[in-house]
Amino acid sequence: MNAITRRRFLASSLSASAAAFAPFALGADGASALRLAPFRFDVTPPIGHPLCGGWITPMVDCADPLEAIGFVLLGAGSPIVVCAVDWTGILNEAHLAWRTALAEAAGTTPDRVAVQCVHQHDAPFVCLHAERLVAEQQDGLRVVEIEFFQQCLDRARAAVKTALPKARSVTHVARGEGRVEKVAGNRRVAIGPDGKVAKMRGSACRDAELVAMPEGLIDPLLKTVAFYDGDEKIAACHYYATHPMSHYGKGHVSSDFVGLARKQRQKEEPGCTHLYFTGAAGNIAAGKYNDGSPEARVQLTERIYRGIVAAEQSLKPEPIGKVSWKTHEILPPTNPVWDAGKLREMLANKKNVPANRIRPAMVLAWMQRMANRTPIVLSALHVNGISLLHLPAESFLEYQLRAQQMQPGRFVATAAYGDGGPWYIPIKDAYPQGGYEVSVANCSDAVDEILTRGIREVLQA
Ligand SMILES: [Zn+2]
Repeated sequence: MNAITRRRFLASSLSASAAAFAPFALGADGASALRLAPFRFDVTPPIGHPLCGGWITPMVDCADPLEAIGFVLLGAGSPIVVCAVDWTGILNEAHLAWRTALAEAAGTTPDRVAVQCVHQHDAPFVCLHAERLVAEQQDGLRVVEIEFFQQCLDRARAAVKTALPKARSVTHVARGEGRVEKVAGNRRVAIGPDGKVAKMRGSACRDAELVAMPEGLIDPLLKTVAFYDGDEKIAACHYYATHPMSHYGKGHVSSDFVGLARKQRQKEEPGCTHLYFTGAAGNIAAGKYNDGSPEARVQLTERIYRGIVAAEQSLKPEPIGKVSWKTHEILPPTNPVWDAGKLREMLANKKNVPANRIRPAMVLAWMQRMANRTPIVLSALHVNGISLLHLPAESFLEYQLRAQQMQPGRFVATAAYGDGGPWYIPIKDAYPQGGYEVSVANCSDAVDEILTRGIREVLQA
């Protein structure tokens, strides 16, 4: 982050606490002055652009376009922006750049903007610092094309500016949930006699033993929170916790099964903006029910779609009485296993596959960020008894379950994959079990207590 954006960031953070509890204003006739401006724009990369941060086949063609979909909520203090992006991840200063662009266009501060990725893999995965580090190697390695990234920010500003004059009055909110059948499974079910993860059940799985094992700890509910102008539904936010990949790696850019389900629902209801958020799914994927075939993508799409429809059938709109936005900053320490010298060697070693050069660059970016003391912002939008919780990176499912348990009287819908800097965020008990997620966790196990405390803070509406 440069000096200007850092100053702006700190200034906005200071203003956050003052604005946090501002109730929304009532109009002269007592009617709600709360308004909502949905927006959407294309974030499909150009042909040849790196996908998943540069370690799978780059963009060959577009199976279906990637979108950023969000809304600006006006009338509850400074504007609030919530946005879901069909990208793998947005890390560190790139995440701040997104929030700053949306904030400027909406007339608010970056701490009142949540940007959450859906985490598809045939999609961009952006860390600007890592891109600079790999560019210094001068051997063709790429994480992201800066020009494309800046174009997306321009589109973000334009989409918000176009949406604001068309903001609709928002009078009611509703919550709903539906059970999703045969999609999510825990990736870490195969624990050996030594207490360690023996093998991982990934997104697609053809290992009969792993497929036969139980689902393990998941959250089977797809949650929906919808906003209304009178009796007209104008925005519906859907939340479900699973890695969203059916198959990937051949350069065919796609919003994958969760995005396809969202698009199907969107087609049926053109007047309502449908948003899909991936919950805390660091240790959750579809491997138990997905062999990676094209047919499996169709089946998974249908199952998520049915979950969305089921959740929407239980929606019961209620008048909006209270709205607030709360934030909490955290600085989770770097995992002590990382050695900057060794990471730089891995990055420079041209014999390593791209993943084993780019990932070290992303870890180095995280270490520098923590040295700069640039925090991660947790946020929650509270509307009546509903809380939309925004968590960073690949948080484990347990954080989402804890969040709901902390506020048993509230309806907590969790979106993870916000600021992706930390990569995986396991719970403390998972660290001694090892496994892939722990091996690529940028934070130490102290993150568990810090993140849990932060969630408790932002959930106090
Ligand atoms: Zn992941």
